[in-house]
Amino acid sequence: MGRKFFVGGNWKCNGSTEEVKKIVASLNAAQVPSQDVVEVVVSPPYVFLPLVKEFLRPDFHVAAQNCWVKKGGAYTGEVSAEMLVDLSVPWVILGHSERRALLNESSEFVGDKVAYALSKGLKVIACIGETLEQREAGTTVDVVAAQTKAIAEKISDWTNVVLAYEPVWAIGTGKVASPAQAQEVHVELRKWLKANVSADVAASTRIIYGGSVNGGNCKELASQPDLDGFLVGGASLKPEFIDIIKSAE
Ligand code: PGA
Repeated sequence: MGRKFFVGGNWKCNGSTEEVKKIVASLNAAQVPSQDVVEVVVSPPYVFLPLVKEFLRPDFHVAAQNCWVKKGGAYTGEVSAEMLVDLSVPWVILGHSERRALLNESSEFVGDKVAYALSKGLKVIACIGETLEQREAGTTVDVVAAQTKAIAEKISDWTNVVLAYEPVWAIGTGKVASPAQAQEVHVELRKWLKANVSADVAASTRIIYGGSVNGGNCKELASQPDLDGFLVGGASLKPEFIDIIKSAE
């Protein structure tokens, strides 16, 4: 249904000015499929957003890794959606499992953040995913459905949402989900969207996979019909990120 392949690079809390400049230079020099085929978004830490925006090729875009749940004010250490809009940062990652786990972000809080960011005109990469215990207990689909529901309850327009399925056990572990495991969850998520939001949203929303994606495993994952791209952590800091972008073709 015309779901354009999406590749996000989540740099997490990594990089120095020099390293960031090097990564941007290598992205700028790369031959990749056109914007008609793949949408590429890289997400540096907040402090490097202006630098990356200034030097990054115009066919790639930037995302923040988080933003505050409402209008700015007396929230020390936070960055508001309005500030990202002011800096012309088009995208924001919300609900990453590291923030859910380490900073106790609940699904309801993530849903509120997604709704607020969208209301300010940001596009959102909304992350969901089960832990190893939840997978082993057979509750994967229930967990990701509940996380999606917490978002769906707060928003009415999915046009600017990319849903990132990132099993927690696959993030940063080198244990990538098999193409069949990823496809299975993506199909369930699409079914959930169809039953609970609309057939149109189910057909048009991009569902991307994240968790130990690299230059070697991306091609087979990308061939799965319900997998519309990737959110890449570790490998997005390396030259193989280009191979992952190329898996769009
Ligand atoms: P990883 O991280 O590719 O290093 O597993 C993915 C993510 O956290 O988005």
